[in-house]
Amino acid sequence: MSTLTRLYADHNATSALRDTAREAMVRALALAGNPSSVHAEGRAARAVLEDARERLASALEVRSEDVTFTSGATEALHLALDSAKAAGFAPVFVGAGEHDAVWAYAGLRWPDLQTVPLDRAGRIDPDWLAAAIHALPAGVHPLVVMQGANNETGALQPLAQVTALVRVRGGALVCDAVQLAGKEEVARYIGFADWLVISSHKIGGPTGAGALVTLPGTPLTNIRPGGGQERGARAGTQNVPAIAGFAAAAAEALGDAAVADFKARTSAERDQFEDSLAEALPDLVFIARDAPRLSNTACVALPGWEAARQIMALDLAGAAVSAGAACSSGKVKASRVLLAAGWPAEVAGSAIRASFGWSTRAGDGERLAALHLAAAQRANLRLPEKV
Ligand code: PLP
Repeated sequence: MSTLTRLYADHNATSALRDTAREAMVRALALAGNPSSVHAEGRAARAVLEDARERLASALEVRSEDVTFTSGATEALHLALDSAKAAGFAPVFVGAGEHDAVWAYAGLRWPDLQTVPLDRAGRIDPDWLAAAIHALPAGVHPLVVMQGANNETGALQPLAQVTALVRVRGGALVCDAVQLAGKEEVARYIGFADWLVISSHKIGGPTGAGALVTLPGTPLTNIRPGGGQERGARAGTQNVPAIAGFAAAAAEALGDAAVADFKARTSAERDQFEDSLAEALPDLVFIARDAPRLSNTACVALPGWEAARQIMALDLAGAAVSAGAACSSGKVKASRVLLAAGWPAEVAGSAIRASFGWSTRAGDGERLAALHLAAAQRANLRLPEKV
């Protein structure tokens, strides 16, 4: 199968670049100046940067001064965590299903952080968190670090509930909204989090750009000083072409109508994929299927068939999917998130994720299921006769 006809179902990892983003990038690439320079070339680059800030702010319904551009969500999350640390919030609660960008860094910043347990869908347990917060002594200001939706299972997290818990105690919330943006109406969640992070390449913009969005007055503390860009909040010359592409993608992807269209199209393909597999594979395990979840994400496990082998088989057949399971030194490790969600190792190690997106074509869900079933048959998986 040529790359032209490949079936791409890994939008939660990186979505396809939108034409509007590519065009904005090409225009910005023609500029020579550094946006911090005062000459005409610098001012031209600065104008593109500030226009991108306005566009992103308008798509998110925030003030442009509350948008800080970074090299991606990872850096924005680290800046948010550094800022929360400097502001003295404690104790710190982190969801067990957070992306490594949060998980690994929060562990470094707060070795004594408390992990919020997950249910089988990968959703944090709000009752556990409520009990833990209610048990805190008076006068402490907790920090909760929590994603909007889980990247592996698609489970939507109870953000409104958690915000209410945190606010009552004068605490704060860092929200990794990377998987919410463009899939849910992310502007509605802005007020919930003191620090909220989104990433360009998950919404059809290029890699290499992200943003930290803060509520008015929320402090930013940069522990990596340098050129003082982004009003001193983040050092390093901004990646103007990537940021221009990011803003163009945001303008196209984040509005309510675009999100409604995204939901309708991706849920149709995702449901078709799941239904076709369910019919043929009685041993299939669905993860988060009955939970509130993103419209585009399917997470299914076939115990006995390692995730890495499924992905390679599908890749050879022309389709791109992924897994939370990590492969290092030739050994497949089960997904940390699925293990934390209480799934046994054989499920966590055989779970794959199909994530559809804006460029998904009608029929992709059905085609992906057919490719998966054919690959299962070649792998000599026990399948019913009709497959
Ligand atoms: N948070 C979540 C939930 C993600 O899915 C990802 C990317 O996979 C990140 C953070 C990191 O984003 P970036 O690649 O922009 O650093």
